[in-house]
Amino acid sequence: MPAYDFRCKNCGQEFTLFYKTYQAYDQAERACSNCGSSQLSRIINRIALQAPARDYSKMSPNEMLSVLESGDSRQVGQMFQQVGGASPELGADFHETTKQLLDGEPMAKVEKTLQEKDVAKKSALP
Ligand SMILES: [Zn+2]
Repeated sequence: MPAYDFRCKNCGQEFTLFYKTYQAYDQAERACSNCGSSQLSRIINRIALQAPARDYSKMSPNEMLSVLESGDSRQVGQMFQQVGGASPELGADFHETTKQLLDGEPMAKVEKTLQEKDVAKKSALP
């Protein structure tokens, strides 16, 4: 059932109206439930305009793991960026990896690059 939020331009009252069909919505006469004014403006639901970005910083370790296991590199990249994007102390590798992921590089490739860097570091040791 379609539901729409309205704000009364006269008294500022906000309310939700339900309609059985979209056609009913088009044809309905609307009035403020508080003052009866017909001067209403639709409140566009923010969620309808913009898919909510996941807040990775509030995720539990298990949820983070499931993002990693999803193999969706862009999603993993967004998680990396949100969690550590503003932390220079995480080092260049972390930020390079984040960028690769955000660019949509396949997880396998990103992991391989990381491994190669790791090997390079170890072999550079005396
Ligand atoms: Zn009103």
